[in-house]
Amino acid sequence: MPLSATPAEPRATVSTPLSGPLSGPLSGPAPTRGRSASYAGAALDLLADRPLVVLTGAGLSTDSGIPDYRGPDAPPRRPMTYQEFVAGPEAQQRYWARSHLGWGRMRRADPNEGHHALAAIAPELLITQNVDGLHERVGTPRLVALHGRIADVVCLACRRTSARAALHEQLASLNPDWHERHPSVRVRPDGDVDLEDTAGFVVPSCSCGGVLKPDVVFFGENVPKDRVERCYAAVDALRDGDGALLVVGSSLTVMSGLRFVRRAAALEVPVVVVNRGETRGDPLATYAVESGCTPFLTALAARRGA
Ligand SMILES: [Zn+2]
Repeated sequence: MPLSATPAEPRATVSTPLSGPLSGPLSGPAPTRGRSASYAGAALDLLADRPLVVLTGAGLSTDSGIPDYRGPDAPPRRPMTYQEFVAGPEAQQRYWARSHLGWGRMRRADPNEGHHALAAIAPELLITQNVDGLHERVGTPRLVALHGRIADVVCLACRRTSARAALHEQLASLNPDWHERHPSVRVRPDGDVDLEDTAGFVVPSCSCGGVLKPDVVFFGENVPKDRVERCYAAVDALRDGDGALLVVGSSLTVMSGLRFVRRAAALEVPVVVVNRGETRGDPLATYAVESGCTPFLTALAARRGA
């Protein structure tokens, strides 16, 4: 399903007050109504002993200094789509010129306590929408990087993948003064930056002559099917294992993540959503917890004895 399929859909708003006794699926309490910091304790109770699948988003990496472009302080912005990127060399020049600045900063980001807590919890599967590679850095087992990793590069012609670090060195030598000319641009969670004037930036090709693209899923591009199937299988297994789905730091704006919440809800698997701000998963959540990611995850790791 294309990433671009859903952003126009309005966010769900939940204003119905909690009323009446809770009754619902055998595997957990029925969904509460609304989002509240006060649900944190009940959510930790719910997640204390169960098998978990965890879905993480940009909010998890804000404590590592990588801004969440959907967060409350983020400026409006429309990412480059896959269709725009492949349209021609000008778009590719614009992408790489901006991304080159963002990468120089993103690669200096370090995992935070939330990443460490999740590695210690070691869920049945950790699905991340983040492309920053920080879950990988702390050795998280059973990980699916749903949208790929910004540290990888793929050739659109021969499909060979290579390390972004090598391309970065090449870009740096082809464009020696680029950073000095743009010292204070804002960095996005996908490594992009705010920059309009990108003329003159030199972009190398693959050794086969093909176009190089970061090996991440762009808006308008599909998540590879095998990744999606692995995630669905893990969510499906939660039903028989009396498990739960935990979503941390994602507003679930794009369908690529929301679909797993929908699947869990359809299977009556309890869902906990932890985020600063409303998410599209809130109406499906047993608990929608208004909280930062790091404090909740460190509390959960302690609770599980991880
Ligand atoms: Zn190639």
